[in-house]
Amino acid sequence: MSDLRADLPVVVIGAGPVGLAAAAHLAAKRQGVLLLEAGTSVGAFVRAWGHVQVFSPWRFNVDPAARNLLASSGWIEPDVDVLPTGAEIVAQYLEPLAKCAEIAPHLRLGTRVVIDPNLHSCGTVPPHGADELRHPEPGLFVVGMKSYGRAPTFLMLTGYGQVRSVVAELTGDLAGARRVELTLPATGVCSATPSSSEDAAGCCASTPTPTPVGGLGRKAPR
Ligand SMILES: Cc1cc2nc3c(=O)[nH]c(=O)nc-3n(C[C@H](O)[C@H](O)[C@H](O)COP(=O)(O)OP(=O)(O)OC[C@H]3O[C@@H](n4cnc5c(N)ncnc54)[C@H](O)[C@@H]3O)c2cc1C
Repeated sequence: MSDLRADLPVVVIGAGPVGLAAAAHLAAKRQGVLLLEAGTSVGAFVRAWGHVQVFSPWRFNVDPAARNLLASSGWIEPDVDVLPTGAEIVAQYLEPLAKCAEIAPHLRLGTRVVIDPNLHSCGTVPPHGADELRHPEPGLFVVGMKSYGRAPTFLMLTGYGQVRSVVAELTGDLAGARRVELTLPATGVCSATPSSSEDAAGCCASTPTPTPVGGLGRKAPR
């Protein structure tokens, strides 16, 4: 990494669970961050299905670096065995995280960046990190929900593993970037028999043209 780029903040596009986790990992490495969120609040996507109770309990929904940041701000972690709703994830986790002193000054709400991978990956995805997520453009990584296109099975936990590896890579910890720290169960949705040919096409059969996207990368020098 050149000295010029080391002075630039890492731009994180989207303040969902994974984007905020990326900001927490960057803060832990004392790396500058700029967090751009299209919505008028953090967790805009999760808020949209806020009435739904998730299937993973709190212990799997909080990123480790985010937990450390929150602990230093006096946050009380919810009962790890409880299944929260989307709204509770926003109110009890994402909003307090966004208010942390290490993140709040660097968050820009109502800021949409043109990204759309439009590439749908499905089936079981093994734990992965910077090597699999990098794009041809230097310093550009697509992480979180958008790294799977629009696959509905993306776990927050997968995203937390991704950003740990990518932040390690961006901050020069190459061995850390390649270390696998996440164990995921096999969850391939495509092992199920689709109820119609339309479902099948929507899952695996179509091969849309990918559009280069943003996600996590360094701000380009002006
Ligand atoms: C009903 C339902 C139940 C679920 N249950 C679980 C569960 O039990 N456990 C689990 O781990 N996961 C669950 N998930 C999946 C979980 O929601 C995702 O893993 C998680 O939201 C991914 O976080 P993310 O930050 O990658 O993406 P998102 O949550 O999609 O956040 C992306 C953020 O980026 C913003 N954004 C998008 N485009 C742009 C742009 N162009 N410019 C700027 N900002 C942009 C959005 O407004 C949003 O705030 C569930 C999902 C649904 C729909």
